Amino acid sequence: MWKADAVGIIVAIDGPAGSGKSTLARGLALALEVPYVNTGLMYRALAARALERGVDPDDGSGLLALLSTLTFDLDRSSRPPELSIDGAPPEPALTSADVERVVSRVARHRDVRAAMRDAQRALGGSGAVLEGRDIGTVVFPDAAAKLFLVARQDARVARRGAERGGEVESEVLLGRDERDAEVNPFVPAPDAVELDTSDLSREETLARALAAVRARIGRS
Ligand code: C5P
Repeated sequence: MWKADAVGIIVAIDGPAGSGKSTLARGLALALEVPYVNTGLMYRALAARALERGVDPDDGSGLLALLSTLTFDLDRSSRPPELSIDGAPPEPALTSADVERVVSRVARHRDVRAAMRDAQRALGGSGAVLEGRDIGTVVFPDAAAKLFLVARQDARVARRGAERGGEVESEVLLGRDERDAEVNPFVPAPDAVELDTSDLSREETLARALAAVRARIGRS
């Protein structure tokens, strides 16, 4: 009954790099039987294409034109259904240091963000768990449930290292946070439930998030 009820719901998960968004978002999408959309990968795909084609990360109109050459869709053959880019799963190179160095600059342009917002609404509008920085505030301000993840710096750096299969320099992660904060300050939506994941396992984080989502949906 819970799962059937969940069809069509939109859950927004926002938070900084390394706060555990991706693992939680995928787990929640599986539990709720809705697609999972990682919006950071959409900005990363644009940054990677800009690097490939020699488009300056500060050239907003060049980036907007480049964005129209990317196709975002849902791969419904995966469980949960997930973002596909130009008809294929996101490439591992999207998490490279080269992409991370420029992605915040790419993400700061108003027109680029508006186009991304529209694409994200098209992907998630029939129900999804979406993760990013502005999902609960800008992309889906009416989402059924909103979670805002936070974690201590040491926990975020360690988690990112484990995800990337090795050491992650804290300057790279924290440098990106700083650039993100300069160009696109992100704040929790007033109705978001804040979850500190520093000392929580994946399972504990998922259990708390599911409880928060259930409480929200039960109330609405
Ligand atoms: O979530 P992830 O760390 O992969 O995001 C990569 C970058 O994309 C962020 O550092 C940020 O600059 C940008 N981003 C954004 N808005 C989102 C998701 C990501 O500006 N909704």
